[in-house]
Amino acid sequence: GQNFARAFEVTFQTADGGLEFVWNTSWGVSTRLVGGLIMTHSDDNGLICPPRLAQYQVVIVPIYKTDDERATMVDAAQRTRATLLAAGIRVHVDAREGIKPGAKYYEWEGRGVPFRLEIGPRDVAAGTAMLARRTGGKKEPVPMDGLAERLIAEMNRMQIELLENARARREAASIRGATKAQLIQQMEGTGGFIYGGFCGERACEAEIKEQTKATIRVLPDPEFCSPNVPARCLWCDMPSIAEAVWAKAY
Ligand SMILES: [Zn+2]
Repeated sequence: GQNFARAFEVTFQTADGGLEFVWNTSWGVSTRLVGGLIMTHSDDNGLICPPRLAQYQVVIVPIYKTDDERATMVDAAQRTRATLLAAGIRVHVDAREGIKPGAKYYEWEGRGVPFRLEIGPRDVAAGTAMLARRTGGKKEPVPMDGLAERLIAEMNRMQIELLENARARREAASIRGATKAQLIQQMEGTGGFIYGGFCGERACEAEIKEQTKATIRVLPDPEFCSPNVPARCLWCDMPSIAEAVWAKAY
């Protein structure tokens, strides 16, 4: 609508030279979306940022003991960075002095960087780097040859894995085609998302809220609807006008 535009006097010049308030959508791409990202993709070590969204998709940590080693390893890290950048990968070298590698790992893990490459003297000698994934699993040496292609494939895999895990978690917390009894039981118990038919009546919606504390969170678009959209309201058994998702708001 134009409410926001009126409040903040955001106007545009029309074809005939006049001024009009802009029309804008309300997608709320702001802190709420960031909160959703954090709650969807995180673990006890912090954020796990999906590769496509990550500011840095890869962080490179040079490993060294002496000053001589440091110069060589930072140089190797910078060359690797240039190669990956050229392949369109967002990459950062953490060459900060006076911070132990473990502390750097911990920090970048908390910030959700999907991949970490460790480059030390043994790796350089072997023409490899040590690859660690933010989603877990064992670190493994990967060849410098073809590293960018390998990382792009790894990123695609992680992106899909995170999406599939998030969908599985959502479904595990959802009951589709739920009955009235299931809605009541679920709201008294662990909560979650209840998909069911809705008659569209305010009185029915109010009664559900009063008895279960659940409210309609969304009337899903077709692509998010259940395969078998219920024909009747889960509460009053009147014909359903839409599938609705009920849950408690916190
Ligand atoms: Zn109803």
